[in-house]
Amino acid sequence: MKIPFVDLTRQHLPILDSLTESFKRAIKDSSFIMGEGVSSFEDAFASFCGANHCVGVGNGTDALFIILKVLGVGVGDEVITAPNSFIATTEAITATGARPVFVDVDPDSFNIDTAKIEAALTDKTKAIIPVHLYGQPADMKPIMDIAERHGLKVVEDAAQAHGAEYDGKMTGSLGHAAAFSFYPGKNLGCLGDGGAVVTNDSALAEKVAMLRNHGRKEKYLHDVEGVNSRLDTIQAIFLNKKLKYLNGWNEQRRAAASLYGDMLAHIDGIKLPVQYDKLRHVHHLYVIRAERRDDLAAYLKEMGISTGIHYPVPLHLQPAYGWMEHKRGAFPVTEGMASDILSLPLFPGIKEEEQAYVAEKIREFYKL
Ligand SMILES: *Cc1c(COP(=O)(O)O)cnc(C)c1O
Repeated sequence: MKIPFVDLTRQHLPILDSLTESFKRAIKDSSFIMGEGVSSFEDAFASFCGANHCVGVGNGTDALFIILKVLGVGVGDEVITAPNSFIATTEAITATGARPVFVDVDPDSFNIDTAKIEAALTDKTKAIIPVHLYGQPADMKPIMDIAERHGLKVVEDAAQAHGAEYDGKMTGSLGHAAAFSFYPGKNLGCLGDGGAVVTNDSALAEKVAMLRNHGRKEKYLHDVEGVNSRLDTIQAIFLNKKLKYLNGWNEQRRAAASLYGDMLAHIDGIKLPVQYDKLRHVHHLYVIRAERRDDLAAYLKEMGISTGIHYPVPLHLQPAYGWMEHKRGAFPVTEGMASDILSLPLFPGIKEEEQAYVAEKIREFYKL
């Protein structure tokens, strides 16, 4: 059996006619930038998140960057985040001129360890970016309390967590603003690149809307300089079609995760992800911790099973951040994870027999 890590055709082929129809209509309208296609998706996604505003942008990295710019983050400032994210999180921080300051993660949730945040604050700290890693919300209540006490802004990196919930509230409505990515493999993805800023703050939303579009409200009147980072109209139309399926797809991910939980129980050598009652995880990734991880991955590959590592090199040890001069050992929980995490195939449309095959081969490996 061959099992891909992700198979997007299983979400797109069943709705191929509907997507093709939208594409034809978009060509007939020939209105490719902004307009009704973008605004109707923005309205729909804001309401999906239980937030007042959504502003479409070019990608998730720009969503983070534009929020930070609007919050006034820049040279000389510091922004707190976790070192076990995709580099986009820190790229957005340094693009403003600010410096990323890392706080290690909790070994069970893989999300920022809220007990360690306050020790990392300085008088330069302006914001905290909790990453809802793998589709599981960070522990937002203590984060918002810390932010409140110290006058900081909280920007959710929700790129992996469309539709996840914390205490009954959706990601996107938990901080001061949130960044979403619609990269194709995300829980809600474009047929290309896309992203969005979601917030309850009207003034912030208005500034984000200007900044993503050359700093303008009118065609050739620019209050400030901005960037060109609009959400493509055709992508917005696709997203609007796909949004109707997001809850169903997330349910399929949850069901597949719970099936893995049963199938992989009691294997000496692996640890399964911990589940929390107050969180509704959307399982962007299903990540186990595995002894002899690299050998396991190689064995599974030989058996036709693709896996991933998210992420093999922590941000503080990336060559790109050599200038920060972090030493190995600086963030031990993250570094420990990097050596034994393994992401198993999990996507809407994965079949029970495929998961059973993955589980069987993992069991087999630890008996060898
Ligand atoms: C995907 C991702 C991003 C960036 O999104 P792009 O749309 O690819 O720019 C940011 N943060 C995290 C955690 C991501 O997984």
